[in-house]
Amino acid sequence: MQEKYREHQRPDKWCSLLFENAAMMDRSDRLEDALGGLSCNMSASSGLDSCFILLSDAGGIDARSEWKVAAGCRADISPGRILHISRTAMAAVDSMGPAEAHAGDLGLSGYEGTGFLCVPLVSHMRTVGLAVLYTSGKCVDIPPDTIELLVMMGVQGAHAIDEFNYKQELQKRTDELRRVYEIQRRITSTIDLDEATESIVENAPYITRFQHCLIYLLDPNERRIVSVRAPEAVEKKFGKLKFSLDELVATRIAMDERKPLFIEDARTFPNISKRIVNMLGWVSAIVLPLISRDRVLGVMWLYTTDRMVHFDDNDRRSAIALSDQAANVIDAARIHKELEESYEKLKDLDRTKMEFFTLISHELRNPLAIIKGYTELLYDGTLGPINDKQKDKLARVRENVDKLADMVGKMSEISSLESRKYTVDRVPVSLGDMVSEIAETMGFLFQNKRITLNVDIPENLPLVEVDRKKMEQVLLNLLNNALKYTPEGGHVTVTAEDRPADILVSVWDTGIGIPQKDLDKIFSGFYHSGYKLSYEYKGPGLGLAISRKIIEGHGGRIWAKSEVGKGSTFYFTIPKRTVASGSAEAKTT
Ligand code: ADP
Repeated sequence: MQEKYREHQRPDKWCSLLFENAAMMDRSDRLEDALGGLSCNMSASSGLDSCFILLSDAGGIDARSEWKVAAGCRADISPGRILHISRTAMAAVDSMGPAEAHAGDLGLSGYEGTGFLCVPLVSHMRTVGLAVLYTSGKCVDIPPDTIELLVMMGVQGAHAIDEFNYKQELQKRTDELRRVYEIQRRITSTIDLDEATESIVENAPYITRFQHCLIYLLDPNERRIVSVRAPEAVEKKFGKLKFSLDELVATRIAMDERKPLFIEDARTFPNISKRIVNMLGWVSAIVLPLISRDRVLGVMWLYTTDRMVHFDDNDRRSAIALSDQAANVIDAARIHKELEESYEKLKDLDRTKMEFFTLISHELRNPLAIIKGYTELLYDGTLGPINDKQKDKLARVRENVDKLADMVGKMSEISSLESRKYTVDRVPVSLGDMVSEIAETMGFLFQNKRITLNVDIPENLPLVEVDRKKMEQVLLNLLNNALKYTPEGGHVTVTAEDRPADILVSVWDTGIGIPQKDLDKIFSGFYHSGYKLSYEYKGPGLGLAISRKIIEGHGGRIWAKSEVGKGSTFYFTIPKRTVASGSAEAKTT
């Protein structure tokens, strides 16, 4: 054995031993393997036939620490076995230098008469483990330079342990971050208030050190608790409680002072409801106001029931981050809920408006027809002779009755188009023929106003499958508008273009034009462009809204481009799809 020591004393031999030792640990994927290799190398280098490595089980190392065998080069001391190390071994830990121990000194039975060498594994001035070397049956005198080699190997081992711990910690942190991210994604992925708060309450224990989370949702305007969100078991207990802010002192303080409250021991904290502390078994808690857009939306409690927590920066930071996030999610969910409610109200109003239209148009149609009929009879003298003055006035009455009838007709039309479904009776139609017919019918009106009407539609335009009457109505509306809003001497041109997916129809005029800001609004109904000239021609403001409904009902799109004082172009598209003849249902909503 002495010979062996001599051999190891040579510095070049040391170098290669140390190098191999480091390389072996570097190659090891698991700490157990690295320490197993270390114990074998230390045993071989020392000439002692046994070596095992001890790691302290608890983070702190003192005489009471339990040491666990992490690896050994002999099977009789199995990894995982717990040892309470002796004062001699402890000396090696404390002094960070090697110490010799005697039989039984390490609390190991069955090794009477055996000498032990305890080599501390030291890294960054800390003993992170202990290598225990021995040879059965006898005490051996190990030369100082071999001990030096063992100490160096111990340092290598300690660095390897540090590195493994560091990697493990890093992995743990990465996993934690991934989990936090995943939870946060889940929390923020919903805009439903109940789901959002439920998700926060459920997941808070995974991103903080607290076991439970409870949220009081407040009515920001009335200083009132509207509901409590907590895990099911806690919510059951809460069912019996009245949510009064008078009793919830800490909650009230957090809410009024808009600052978190850190309560390490709820049982001795003065400003807290003892009844709830006892009922819910609060020990440590952080109470956080949930503030978004400067309004306190609620108060969040993060608490433990089984242990007292001495808060560190991490606890404070993660709790505040969670409460900020919760406040944003709750706010977004509330806004969404309010918007949904407002939207429902608007839809109700719209429904009421349409019902009103239906009723009015229905009720007005008959009296109007009677007025119109009698006016005609009076006007053409069937009911007796009338003078020129009377005829002139009757002509005005007739004109206004026609306007009124037009308005009632449009109100009736829009209300039927707005009803949940309307039918589109599609038939193959030649757009060119349709436009020419309309242009012919309206020709004299354009001539009267000395406006040139051009129809420029390619002859080979494919047939389109449309509801003929409704499509005629759209073209009539657009041409009527072009006529109304184009001053005398102007031009109106209707064109159509065959495109791959649709037919694009345009009605272009050299009229008064529409300001840019009004271009979208004119299609929503009852809207007149604010441009002053248009007031002289004002109609009911429903023609374009009706046209839009019809075009959209056919799966197309309608829009306008315009320049004030120069003119406007109205465009619409009709998809080129072939539908089985007969009636097709179109949703108008
Ligand atoms: P109206 O019965 O008022 O013509 P429409 O729905 O057809 O109702 O049109 C809505 C508004 O759009 C009109 O009041 C007018 O201000 C504007 N408008 C429509 N067509 C034209 C056009 N060709 N030139 C200028 N303004 C137009």
